[in-house]
Amino acid sequence: MKYAVIKKDDLTKWLEHLKKKAKLYAPKKKENLFVFRPVKDVNDVCLEYIPTILPPKKYYFPQKEKLLRFSIQPFKTAKAISEFEEFILFAVHTCDIAGIQCMDVVFRDGPEDPNYLNRKEKMTIIGIECLKYCDDKANCTSMANHVPRGGYDLMMVDIGERYILHINSEKGERLVKGVAYIKEASEKDIAHLERVREEKKKIFKEELKAPLREVYEAFDENFHSKVWEDVGNRCVACGNCTAVCPTCYCFDVLDDMDLSLNEGLRYRIWNSCQMDDFAKVSGGEDFRKGRDLRQRHRYYRKFKYPVDKFNRYFCTGCGRCTRTCMAGISLIETVNSLLKENAAKENSIVP
Ligand code: SF4
Ligand code: SF4
Repeated sequence: MKYAVIKKDDLTKWLEHLKKKAKLYAPKKKENLFVFRPVKDVNDVCLEYIPTILPPKKYYFPQKEKLLRFSIQPFKTAKAISEFEEFILFAVHTCDIAGIQCMDVVFRDGPEDPNYLNRKEKMTIIGIECLKYCDDKANCTSMANHVPRGGYDLMMVDIGERYILHINSEKGERLVKGVAYIKEASEKDIAHLERVREEKKKIFKEELKAPLREVYEAFDENFHSKVWEDVGNRCVACGNCTAVCPTCYCFDVLDDMDLSLNEGLRYRIWNSCQMDDFAKVSGGEDFRKGRDLRQRHRYYRKFKYPVDKFNRYFCTGCGRCTRTCMAGISLIETVNSLLKENAAKENSIVP
């Protein structure tokens, strides 16, 4: 079975079923925002939501995680701490699934990251396709992440009274197989899905003022742009934009010694290239002293460096960095300013 359907009335029943299978995380309303949380009451699960404050990366790449326990005397020993359990991420937007694909590329690139890979192995992803814009901060269409592009086990699409489920893996199949109220999709359902997708094309329009190839060229040509100065003047270096980004993965490693000074725990915690001391090295040298250089670095880590290294853009278009920025720095505006500057430069070149 490639496509299945479930009536909306049966959704809570299915959520109860999923809860029994593994730890279930899903979006929930929190004041006027949304967060991914473990599901206690299935009625709290929100299927229409703007991107959650933090992406689901907190479950496969935790903010703080214990790596190993060590002791020094009488011998130096170290024991890895592995805490991995089966879990299901429910109703993940396609932009956040793209974020997981980016993490995959990074953490599978040598040296492999066993903690991430073990968690990924235990993770099942049930996506939901957005049929309308979350808000004007998202640039998912320009990044081509407004539609499903793999990376999930099941994908739900609202077709009126029912959800159609695209089954994309064995893990996904296990969650629908033998469930009496989930049926194989009919030709009529597939036709309905196609109509929904056609309608969607009228709503989602590219948010950046040029195709990605030109965005890449603008980054390639404008390392010393005024745009970085302007963004650097406004940035307050809070680091929020990197914390909320589904593709930021920088971390620091800390040792926490107990009072005997003989035993301790090694942690890794999220770090941010927007922090003042991030690029400082011994001897006091700082490779990215100003906020302009740090902001430039953040943007290049989305639109240039990963394209060179992995042939993939690392902005998913979720819009979180813009939504969270207390200085009002907008990713769409920044990239469009760079495109404008690049176009002006090209026009001024006399052949
Ligand atoms: S959220 Fe805004 S102010 Fe904070 S570091 Fe990022 S760009 Fe700067
Ligand atoms: S750079 Fe901003 S819009 Fe792009 S993936 Fe990160 S948080 Fe989302």
